[in-house]
Amino acid sequence: MKLDINKIRADFPILSRKVNGKQLIYFDNGATTQKPKQVIDSIVNYYSNINSNVHRGVHSLSQEATTAYEEARKNIAKYINAKSEKEIIFTKGTTESINLMSNVLTDWIQKNDEIIITSMEHHSNLVPWQQLCKEKEAKLQIIPANRNGEIDLDLYEEMLNPKVKLVAFAHISNVLGTINPAKEMIELAHKYGVPVLVDGAQAIAHTKVDVQDLNCDFYCFSAHKAYGPMGIGVLFGKESWLKQLKPFHYGGEMIENVTFEESTFNSLPYKYEAGTPNVEGVLAMETALKYIDELGIENIKEYEDELLEYATKQLLEIEGVRIIGTAKNKTAVLSFVVNGIHPYDIGTLLDQMGVAVRTGNHCAQPLIEQYNIPGTVRASFAIYNTKEEVDYFVDALKISLSMLA
Ligand code: PMP
Repeated sequence: MKLDINKIRADFPILSRKVNGKQLIYFDNGATTQKPKQVIDSIVNYYSNINSNVHRGVHSLSQEATTAYEEARKNIAKYINAKSEKEIIFTKGTTESINLMSNVLTDWIQKNDEIIITSMEHHSNLVPWQQLCKEKEAKLQIIPANRNGEIDLDLYEEMLNPKVKLVAFAHISNVLGTINPAKEMIELAHKYGVPVLVDGAQAIAHTKVDVQDLNCDFYCFSAHKAYGPMGIGVLFGKESWLKQLKPFHYGGEMIENVTFEESTFNSLPYKYEAGTPNVEGVLAMETALKYIDELGIENIKEYEDELLEYATKQLLEIEGVRIIGTAKNKTAVLSFVVNGIHPYDIGTLLDQMGVAVRTGNHCAQPLIEQYNIPGTVRASFAIYNTKEEVDYFVDALKISLSMLA
């Protein structure tokens, strides 16, 4: 199906604004995407018509809010093809989902055990495991990516051994755009009896996520990178795992029975949702995923891949430009450096011409250091971006480089 990009653009109010007197071109979608009016309306509607605390009241509003909240959980479970809505835990986002896991796995990881991650992890999927390893005197092992930004599966398999207790990796790299061979990596880990956590922050808006097909044990994502609001996201966990692991936060909602001496804990998913949840966030996340679903994730991917190819080709024609991240299987992210020019200077000049890109280490400092560069300029695409915007960006980049040379 051919998507009507102009119609899609009309759904995003922010796209009509100007920045520094110029029409905004928003190429920082890897950091966060813009929101369609359907998502914004969902938040307004919640507070205008439904607002009430969930799971607590007999009154109608509370029941309405609870029904909407639990219906959203079912739809989000369906969206990622989880077996049951009990496997969907609402968190603040990917970072909190991973921290939750590193917290509840403290008994699973013992001295001299190993946790495997890749060299292309966001700090969110590195620091929690690094700190857990320090605490437990375990070892953090890093699968190196090659110069193109690809994982060597043979090398990875060599690292798997009985001491490995967890593999955690990004489905898609936020710096390189690499789509990691998640299914194969999970299958290999399972061959050695090792559970796998997938950081899907960059995947959820750009590629199909089917947790049963992947057969991952845990999958994390944030709504705000998929046209949804900030401060809400998901931890998917297989029921068999979540059932046996300890709770994360303690308090209301996550308990079953409390005395001054003892507490028993609620069933899934509530065991992991202490306190009043972000109800409007959940409903708006549901709306955002529905928005993606109606466009069709395969159509979105096809269109974004076309944009990526178009932009890559033009960038490569500019003297001095080097693309960081040239994996065969990549999407939506275009990182580059230019000989002798700091990424920050390029980003600043582009901003003056209305183009929003990201510069720096993209919260993946060890990866950037391996390339021996000060950081990159990153253009990352979403469904509302166009080839005309790419043309403008390339011209603006050429002007910036001539000013900085
Ligand atoms: N992992 C990856 C691959 C990311 O790109 C990001 C966000 N840049 C995160 C984790 C963290 O996501 P959040 O800030 O929404 O928790």
